Amino acid sequence: MVLKREYYSGKSTLVFEEVVMKMRIAVFCSLLAVLAVGLSVAQQESPVTAIKAGRLIDPETGTIAVNQVILVEGEKITGVGPNLAIPSGATVIDLSQLTVLPGLVDAHTHMALTYKEEPENNYYYLTYIMDSTPLRAIQAASNGMQLLNSGFTVVRDVGNNALYADAALRQAIEQGWLPGPTVIPSGPMIGSTGGQYWPTPEMYKYHNIMFPEYIDANSPDEIVRAVRENMLFGARTIKLCIDCKPWGYSVDDIKLAISEAAKGGCKVEGHVQTADGAQRAIDAGVYIIAHNNALTPEHHRQMAEKGIILAGTDTPFTAYRGSEAAFKRTVANLRDAWEKRVLLTYSTDFDYWNERMKDPKTGEWLTRGELTINFLETWKTAGIPQADILRAMTINGYKAADILSQRGPIKPGFFADIIAVPGNPLVDIDALRNVRFVMKNGMVFKKDGVMIPEKFFHPGPVKTPNGRWTR
Ligand SMILES: [Zn+2]
Repeated sequence: MVLKREYYSGKSTLVFEEVVMKMRIAVFCSLLAVLAVGLSVAQQESPVTAIKAGRLIDPETGTIAVNQVILVEGEKITGVGPNLAIPSGATVIDLSQLTVLPGLVDAHTHMALTYKEEPENNYYYLTYIMDSTPLRAIQAASNGMQLLNSGFTVVRDVGNNALYADAALRQAIEQGWLPGPTVIPSGPMIGSTGGQYWPTPEMYKYHNIMFPEYIDANSPDEIVRAVRENMLFGARTIKLCIDCKPWGYSVDDIKLAISEAAKGGCKVEGHVQTADGAQRAIDAGVYIIAHNNALTPEHHRQMAEKGIILAGTDTPFTAYRGSEAAFKRTVANLRDAWEKRVLLTYSTDFDYWNERMKDPKTGEWLTRGELTINFLETWKTAGIPQADILRAMTINGYKAADILSQRGPIKPGFFADIIAVPGNPLVDIDALRNVRFVMKNGMVFKKDGVMIPEKFFHPGPVKTPNGRWTR
């Protein structure tokens, strides 16, 4: 009020100029202040993400550490400890009420094959005809997101993926086009004449229909060629059908495949369905044996001695799959393998779908991730200790995927593939059914139980292919 009156006094002009000047200085100062705050925010912004873990499981030792901090920068873990300083400006993720552990591994599955009761009466020969490679690749992409949502950050996808849908999915995920687990693809399964089929001459002679599912390799030359072809097209593991036919592969055949695969950095998984085939696979020294059905206690003993990994594919008996008799055998075989101290992995062989795959309580469809985690039923029924189940689902799975030097342990230098659940899976393994948080390669995919995958979608490539996409 006083000022206003002065405007009209004799010295009003001077006063007015003074006021304007003061205002200008004030505006300038506040601009400087805004800039300074902006600068200090820029200085404080840190590329580090700090995860506060209420409980942190080391699945290797089956132990828990409380109130840990995990520092993540880019794709990797940079620090883990109880009293780590959190850099100012770091993004803090509070999982102090949860149990934090490495992402889970399905060590044997098939994301790009889904045979159904309708329309093909569960007859997968028909699926191979009716579903094209591109269609199956797109379903595999969807399955990958569903698996990631349930905490599976690594998947070994071993055959029955038409013409390299599995390798294409790995590439797409690597390039940042969509979220998904790290895929370890095998390409088509390599077998002697016929593969897993009993083909008609019409099917077999020209290989135009259905046959991309298998590569026939009947001589040492053909075995070498088939292994090289798969590695050329993106395989990170080699899948051999040891005994799908009575003529099968000899110990020397298998050894040849192992040595050729090693040149491309791949290990060999042998599909076995007979006792003789199992013995040949063991004698040749395959890295992994798939399917436990035909293995005897003596095979288990030898596998433990040689350190051969088992992907047992231990199907539970549910409203949508299996029989009581088959389940009893599965449980007994899994139990025996555990008693003999075989290196066990969590593996499903999942490749089917039917109308009964619904949650009995809600009536909602079960996701591919929920169907996969439901294989816990077999492990629980077999009485495997929770710590050993968790080791099979993590450390042993990473070993089977042959990436244990890069992924798995929550330690500095490893990729940040981290999940969190309420409760304690070492006390109640079913806690893994309720994954609340998923981080893969340092990126958050799920938080507070909700998928937030936007950072995963990118027109890409986010990594320069450098001539080769995947190696
Ligand atoms: Zn399989």
